[in-house]
Amino acid sequence: MKIVVLKFGGTSVGSFKRIRIISKIIISYIKKKYAVVVVSSAMSGETNKLIKKSKEICNNFDKSEYDVLLSAGEQIACALISGNLIRLGYKSRSFMGWQVPILTDTNHGNSKINYIQKNNLIKFLKSGGTPIVAGFQGVNNKFKITTLGRGASDYTAIMIAKYLKAQKCIIYTDVEGVMTTDPKVYKNAKKIKIISYEEMLEMSSLGSKVMQSNSVQDARLNRINFDVRSSFKSTVGTSVTKRKNIKNNKVITGISLTKNDAKVTIVGVKDKPGIAASIFEPFSRNNINIDMVVQNISANRHDTDITFTLKQDDLNKTLKLLKLNKKITYRKILIDKNVSKVSIIGVGMITTPGVTYRMFKSLSRKNINILVISTSEIKISVLIKSINVKKAVSALHKEFKLDK
Ligand code: ADP
Ligand code: ASP
Ligand code: MG
Repeated sequence: MKIVVLKFGGTSVGSFKRIRIISKIIISYIKKKYAVVVVSSAMSGETNKLIKKSKEICNNFDKSEYDVLLSAGEQIACALISGNLIRLGYKSRSFMGWQVPILTDTNHGNSKINYIQKNNLIKFLKSGGTPIVAGFQGVNNKFKITTLGRGASDYTAIMIAKYLKAQKCIIYTDVEGVMTTDPKVYKNAKKIKIISYEEMLEMSSLGSKVMQSNSVQDARLNRINFDVRSSFKSTVGTSVTKRKNIKNNKVITGISLTKNDAKVTIVGVKDKPGIAASIFEPFSRNNINIDMVVQNISANRHDTDITFTLKQDDLNKTLKLLKLNKKITYRKILIDKNVSKVSIIGVGMITTPGVTYRMFKSLSRKNINILVISTSEIKISVLIKSINVKKAVSALHKEFKLDK
């Protein structure tokens, strides 16, 4: 049995018309004698609507019921796809996470998959059926429904490909593939034909939501090649694979950007061992993700300033925790709510000197002030005012010849 996993994102199943179109894609694989496992997201906008509903009840909606609520969107999409395939004369049925089952840990809202039982799916495939599996959800050892984090239908697809030893895993979405940058931000973005796991992982964790980052990490660890392509156009997409398979002469592969970041500076904290740990300990306990961190050199050897960035959604909670923190003293807190991180990513920078300079220089030519910098082997990130993001992306795209 040659198995293919086809994942469809929200816009790909966003209307009845779209469901009819993706049914044709599914059938084309069945006709090529593939045993097809479909993984579907909720129809676009549905998960957001469900989140809004929970907020109408209260802001700290029960975590376990939140997962029951949020997982509902995928149930609808799967039933519609399956119902349409049955209408067209194909054997199909929907599988919710608990029916597969997809077994997860108990971390509601952001669970990890521990194991996928493949027997039910395999039996159904062998009987000639096409299972339509709900992405983004699983069940924990207390028989409770869990969800796997925003955008995690990608993760479900990769993990199903892993446990079923699929020959192919294809992520169908609303863009041609992985592009050099978000085409919604820069219209000259170009499709990347082939990209390494490492670069894809950096791109998705630095804000390119075309792939959810956990899914890329698992694909990398398990050496699962996958393709990202459009369900709207029949063009060839992007193939994500190991570095060895790629011959690339570009210094930079892609540019990622974040939206909705915030920057906090604590002015005048004591410059002594343990202070940074005391500041960040309550954030970690409350699952607040801190991103970039800079500590200035102390001018007077007594006190210093610490700057960090985080998601805007976490800002209020973070400020409350800072104010409650009795272990630190400071003069004041400065906040900037309108900042974004722009990153250039590429394995090519390992062997090419001067990339940092070229990045900074092209931003300075556009008069863009850099607020914070962070680097790793294959990426350079800068924090800038959100208002400058389009300008920055366009300048960098040209500087590193990604338009060609
Ligand atoms: P789906 O619903 O199919 O999972 P998503 O909305 O999660 O789709 O991801 C696709 C979107 O990701 C695109 O519409 C695009 O705006 C955005 N995106 C951000 N960065 C990139 C990139 N580098 N390449 C392609 N798309 C990107
Ligand atoms: N429906 C979920 C979300 O909107 C999962 C996904 O789309 O992958 O986050
Ligand atoms: Mg997605």
